[in-house]
Amino acid sequence: MKIDEIWLRDTRAVAEADTLRSEVREFLDDERKTKSFEPQCNAWLEGHDPAFSRKLGERGWLGLAWPKQYGGGARSDLDRYVVIEELLAAGAPVAAHWIAERQTGPSLLRFGSEEQKMLLLPAIASGECFVAIGMSEPDSGSDLASVRTSARRVENGWSISGSKVWTSHASRSHYLVALCRTSDAGTDRHHGLSQFIIDLQSPGVDVRPIALMNGHAHFAEVVLDSVFVPDTMMLGNEGQGWEQVNAELAYERSGPERFLSTYLLLIALGKEVAKALDAESSALFGGLVAELVALRSMSRSIAEQLAEGLVPQVEATMVKDLGTIFENAVVDVSNLLAPRDLLQDPLSGLNTYLAQSVMAAPLFTLRGGTTEILRGIIAKGLT
Ligand SMILES: Cc1cc2nc3c(=O)[nH]c(=O)nc-3n(C[C@H](O)[C@H](O)[C@H](O)COP(=O)(O)OP(=O)(O)OC[C@H]3O[C@@H](n4cnc5c(N)ncnc54)[C@H](O)[C@@H]3O)c2cc1C
Repeated sequence: MKIDEIWLRDTRAVAEADTLRSEVREFLDDERKTKSFEPQCNAWLEGHDPAFSRKLGERGWLGLAWPKQYGGGARSDLDRYVVIEELLAAGAPVAAHWIAERQTGPSLLRFGSEEQKMLLLPAIASGECFVAIGMSEPDSGSDLASVRTSARRVENGWSISGSKVWTSHASRSHYLVALCRTSDAGTDRHHGLSQFIIDLQSPGVDVRPIALMNGHAHFAEVVLDSVFVPDTMMLGNEGQGWEQVNAELAYERSGPERFLSTYLLLIALGKEVAKALDAESSALFGGLVAELVALRSMSRSIAEQLAEGLVPQVEATMVKDLGTIFENAVVDVSNLLAPRDLLQDPLSGLNTYLAQSVMAAPLFTLRGGTTEILRGIIAKGLT
């Protein structure tokens, strides 16, 4: 059964979205046939393939909903959603452009200058410009407002010093969008923060990869030592960094990647469960599918609100919280139900996807904000 057959039907523009969905599937089938990629769980973080990103750019599938003058396709956000969920469901290697297309692009459209938009958006839409997020620091993860990386005014620009950590793909990206302190916080720590677009080739930038336990090193620590950034590369307004970062986080937390990292595993498990149905496995597997349908519905509704210029922070946070718990549940249920003989078989898809998911699972609830922090945001938002 295919993704849109078990999920709720699109309620509007179905015919157009269906055509696009078929085109994306056809493309992915061809790519799989030529072995251009090996489907992989958690591929939106671990499947880094610039050539694949360029292919998507050539087809016009990056920045699909952006205005044409910035290299976009001027299509609907529903269309973009169709493309990204098909790519995620296929475990395609989309990590190279993921952050730039998901959040840097929308951030630039909302806060960027005309010069920044013309410089970056067409390059992102063609799959040739990759961007890393510079929020977390060695002592500022959950407590983001405590960032200490400072930007000091110098002639024609800013001098930035400090260090960022857990910066995904910093060693393979062209730019870093960094949250920095530009003035004293005063009585409110959320004041005095600003965002900068830093060219990662600038003198004074030192990117130090950090290896994960699976041997991959997609993370890095980025040390900034008096890095000059021209005035023209401040993103948005001085002192508005906190509001801008929050708008960005709504994009970061609400997309289908927050519940599809283990989708390949879920489908592989479903095929096995269907062979020998019993009450317990049906209930567990059916429960997961029901959750998936609800998550997709929430996530798509947020995508529509973001497209209208709203910032549904609390709702986005709920998708990230529930979605990552769901991804972990897929791993737990697979561990419980997967036939033991298949787990001994190194060639079985179920075995491969389970191994990939087990290694990635500890990251699900950490990246993009931890469960505890998300629940604090939800609780505060609801009072
Ligand atoms: C795979 C992955 C990719 C990432 N990519 C990026 C990236 O590209 N760019 C970037 O900037 N960052 C990135 N991060 C960093 C991520 O955003 C942080 O790890 C996360 O925000 C948590 O911060 P921390 O690691 O400093 O943990 P801490 O903030 O030190 O938290 C440690 C523990 O304490 C708990 N805790 C902290 N404060 C509270 C509180 N007030 N109440 C209750 N519990 C609390 C947390 O929930 C957590 O369990 C990435 C992380 C991962 C795992």
